[in-house]
Amino acid sequence: MTKLSNSLAAADIAHSLHPYTNARAHERNGPIIMARGAGVHVYDSEGKEYIEGLAGLWSVAVGFSEPRLAEAAARQMAELPFYHTFAGKANEPAIRLAEKLVEMTPDPLTRVFFTNSGSEANDTVVKLVWFMMNAQGRPKKKKFLSRHKGYHGITVASGSLTGLPVNHRDFDLPAIPVVHLTCPHHWRFGHPGESEAAFTARLLREAEETILAEDPDTIAAFIGEPVMGAGGVIVPPEGYWEGIEALCRRYDILIVADEVINGFGRLGTTFGCERMGFTPDILVTSKQLTSSYMPLAAVVMTEAIYDVIADHSDKLGTLGHGFTASGHPVATAVGLENLKIIEERDLVGNAARLAPSFQNGLRAFADLPLVGEVRGMGLIAAIELVADKATKRSFDPLGRVGARAAAFAAEEGLICRALGDTLALCPPLIVTDADIARIIARMGRAITRTGDWAKAEGLV
Ligand code: PMP
Repeated sequence: MTKLSNSLAAADIAHSLHPYTNARAHERNGPIIMARGAGVHVYDSEGKEYIEGLAGLWSVAVGFSEPRLAEAAARQMAELPFYHTFAGKANEPAIRLAEKLVEMTPDPLTRVFFTNSGSEANDTVVKLVWFMMNAQGRPKKKKFLSRHKGYHGITVASGSLTGLPVNHRDFDLPAIPVVHLTCPHHWRFGHPGESEAAFTARLLREAEETILAEDPDTIAAFIGEPVMGAGGVIVPPEGYWEGIEALCRRYDILIVADEVINGFGRLGTTFGCERMGFTPDILVTSKQLTSSYMPLAAVVMTEAIYDVIADHSDKLGTLGHGFTASGHPVATAVGLENLKIIEERDLVGNAARLAPSFQNGLRAFADLPLVGEVRGMGLIAAIELVADKATKRSFDPLGRVGARAAAFAAEEGLICRALGDTLALCPPLIVTDADIARIIARMGRAITRTGDWAKAEGLV
């Protein structure tokens, strides 16, 4: 380690509490300090180059060195660095971005509310839906349906919607009324011998029985990622979303598409709901909205929802909800420029074009001894490592092998994310054929090394 990175690492260890990190292990291991980005690559403080195979946190669509986004931010900083959108104030980038989002999202969506993060956006969804139900004189209709392994954020309400034990345990969550349904992952949760179609039918039966048991008059909304991300990259089976949509329509339940990862091209379509074939009442987007160059998220809703909220705010005198930085001019200026780049360079089309070589290349690893399943769609994928391929038995404890594999991948010059023992990939949308080939080759070497290590450790 150089002297500078050594002292930076010591300062990090001395003063920081890292998100999603084992704090005591971090004190021993220290940070990897990222110093610089260029295209699909990032460079740590030692100068080591990595392909960012997860686009940061599933988010840096345009890569790590886009000058137009830096220029858009600098221009707006110089012009009007901050203004709020409370009490009828507005600013041009926020207006233009809202207009652009209405243009890009499915037709029934017409109104935009900005927040800083995906978690805040989903908290906003919960609160606006509750506000709407109260306005309509339906105070009992407040529950959310979500799914096990769904990820919707970590604040009190969004963390309650999330369906992962690590986000609930010892945080006293869920803290809002939410029912988690079975995760639509056939390979993992299908019964022995159950076809994908039978699995889908079972999950839809379960959803309907849950709605009836809870009482439809108590259920406000269903929230889901079209393709699940942080829960392990789970592509729902054929017919699942159409079935969920039909149930929601039958029982007057709003549909919320959490497109924080899927949005702006990840699946090869602008939004995941288009690829999955359903139309939401509310769509939540963040991450690729600005390529994460600035924190920003947006809740896009139908005119019908807007009308109820607008009438009620008229009655109450105001809408008692909003963040200091809702519609921040620098963040929205960067978002607007980022969406222009995504369109001009046809990055959604690029994702669709490269999807077959990415998905097929990774699926070639399905025959390796440690690999239970390779799955994904568009430019998002995951490789689940298991102790026993035949029975799909996971390693115990979960996560040790995944962490080792991600460390091997990093040594090979590829950053991926270990979710338990599942290795997730979600590269920047600007990737080329040659980048995809490199990602696959490095991942292959990492998995082979993990297999050798697991054997030496007596794990397989
Ligand atoms: N929803 C989804 C689908 C996400 O993937 C995430 C973040 N990974 C969130 C919500 C929360 O976003 P944030 O981390 O910006 O709060």
